[in-house]
Amino acid sequence: MTRRKLAAGNWKMNGLNADLTELEGLPSVSRAEVLICPPATLIERMARKTSSVSVGGQDCHPARSGAHTGDVSARMLADAGATHVILGHSERRQDHGETDALVRSKIKAAWNADLRAILCIGETEGQYKAGETLEVLRGQLAGSLPDGTSPDNLIVAYEPVWAIGTGLVPTMAEIRDVHAFLRAELTARFGADTGDGIRLLYGGSVKPGNAAEIFAVPDVDGALVGGASLKADDFGEIIKALE
Ligand code: PGA
Repeated sequence: MTRRKLAAGNWKMNGLNADLTELEGLPSVSRAEVLICPPATLIERMARKTSSVSVGGQDCHPARSGAHTGDVSARMLADAGATHVILGHSERRQDHGETDALVRSKIKAAWNADLRAILCIGETEGQYKAGETLEVLRGQLAGSLPDGTSPDNLIVAYEPVWAIGTGLVPTMAEIRDVHAFLRAELTARFGADTGDGIRLLYGGSVKPGNAAEIFAVPDVDGALVGGASLKADDFGEIIKALE
């Protein structure tokens, strides 16, 4: 099973109109797929500006529409030009108390709008130190993945919470073991065809200096990149390491 490599940038709550010029500095790629998830305010303008980079949202509401002040639905993201949406990011879980059950309903909403869902899972520092990583990930997958999962509609990003924005990265052996575990879990639940086809991203302090090493780990199909996706120079180096 060949899985197309993916470099996904998560701009988080960063980016104004002027920052769209960063797109012009990115290298052109032939094999890998490049995705940027800017704040919702920039999705439409970014999508209009580029055809070589896919554009995604960072969250969506589970409902189709209605009285939810300040929220954005999956259909609105798609209408603005998004093809993907990040769901269950640890900052959403922490800042907004998102549960696995809520994330599950958001994934279904994303699929109903023909968006690909990027499900983020990962253990906290305390859970890591207590040796609970695999148990936590198993629970998050079981609680948040709906039936109907396919390689076309789902990407899973393993993001240890303690590695996000900290400069800390697990050892390559730890990344390898976790990704092998996730692959086995997905295969056990959805069968070999689906389980082997779903792309697994690593996320958490991916930088130009460590990208190649991380991408060489088996079952790592790319990265979800926060801070280093904001500047074309850094993100470009990471994209090149994936090609
Ligand atoms: P970081 O963030 O690359 O800045 O660590 C990753 C993420 O939160 O997706």
